[in-house]
Amino acid sequence: MSDTLHVPPAQDSAASTEEEYEFFKVVQGYLRHAAKLVDVPDDVLTILSQPKQEIIIHFPVRLEDGKVHLFKGYRVQHNNILGPYKGGIRYHQNVSLDDLKALASMMTWKCALMGLPLGGAKGGIKFDPRQYSERALEKITRRFFHALGSNIGPMYDIPAPDMGTNADTMAWAMDTFVNTVGTRSMSSVRGVVTGKPIMSGGTEGRVKATGQGVVHCIRYWAEDNDFDLEGSHCTIQGFGNVGSYTAMLLSKMGVSTIATGDHTGYLYNPEGFNPHKLMEYVRKNGAIAGYPAGEAISREDFFKIKTDIMVPAALENQIGVIEAQNIDAKLVAEGANGPCTPEGEKILLDRGIEVIPDVLANSGGVTVSYYEWVQNNRSEHWTLEEVDARLETAMRKAYRKTKELARQCNTDLRHASYGAALKRLAAVYRERRIWP
Ligand code: GLU
Repeated sequence: MSDTLHVPPAQDSAASTEEEYEFFKVVQGYLRHAAKLVDVPDDVLTILSQPKQEIIIHFPVRLEDGKVHLFKGYRVQHNNILGPYKGGIRYHQNVSLDDLKALASMMTWKCALMGLPLGGAKGGIKFDPRQYSERALEKITRRFFHALGSNIGPMYDIPAPDMGTNADTMAWAMDTFVNTVGTRSMSSVRGVVTGKPIMSGGTEGRVKATGQGVVHCIRYWAEDNDFDLEGSHCTIQGFGNVGSYTAMLLSKMGVSTIATGDHTGYLYNPEGFNPHKLMEYVRKNGAIAGYPAGEAISREDFFKIKTDIMVPAALENQIGVIEAQNIDAKLVAEGANGPCTPEGEKILLDRGIEVIPDVLANSGGVTVSYYEWVQNNRSEHWTLEEVDARLETAMRKAYRKTKELARQCNTDLRHASYGAALKRLAAVYRERRIWP
């Protein structure tokens, strides 16, 4: 056991050895395959194969050094036939148009699968938020949302937290937006973003929602497979919002998280981590590096650990061929968006490891975002019990629908989740047609 955490070059390291992992092409591949399975007309596929709008903004911010820095911000609006565009804002040094196109389209599939009256979008700023003070983050956020202007709105496009952003970011974003619409409209537009702090119009249960959805899916899988979760093991890649709440909620069901890792390295603890303590440590220190109760291991070893459930909850493109060959688990539940490459997933499935895909597994976040938006529009505040009960019903329904379609089409859960989403979108295009 070593007590100093070695810091491997794990930071955002990718599974794919290709220079550029073309995430959008990967998602388009899933889309095309799923469209064939559920017989979606070519016209609908053509429309859905590209986002409706891609906004790129270079905006200046004067920072603490007194100088003006130029940032590159994006908002990709994929589709709004079901309702306003919806999706997170990501702050990360690797943010790119291609990734955001993939992620925005996945929001369209998630909302359609979950039966929400919302479309899909994703945005972000290409920078490393860890290098900036809170004051600077607030300025950058406000300047970005000011620059987005009327490209967002509570009935048009509703951002939310994603990687590198949180409830604070959403409070600043909302405050900036409401201050630009004129005094008389201020209180009616709080629903312009979701994932806000509760006192500023957020909902109960949003912070844990994505992890909660992942855990519901794991529970349904366990029920289907007669698997006793009590006393079982889990490994979690990423200990941010999704990973940490997944660990915490799993621990309530008797599942121990025996290994985890983030951009600063990986830790193993065969006794299981105390998720509350680790969460508290990460809140204070920003990462798991230096956490005393665990053995530092490499990224490679992390993927070799024998476990029951593996939850990738970090970045896309993490489980490629090598990782998939090494993973020793019964289930991979995708907390992150796009963590498995198609090649990696094929190996997992061939080896009998079930994969609950992102579009289903992590859709609890946007579902509770929808509840927040409804509460804002109705000036209501629901109890945690109400939010939890609604989420459980919605997740169970989506899980069952996906399983059933997978059975009918003789396909895997990923293509079934895309298929279920596509069926709903195609039905609406069939009814409304294209005009003019
Ligand atoms: N960023 C989250 C996701 O990828 C949540 C989006 C939302 O709440 O709108 O699903």
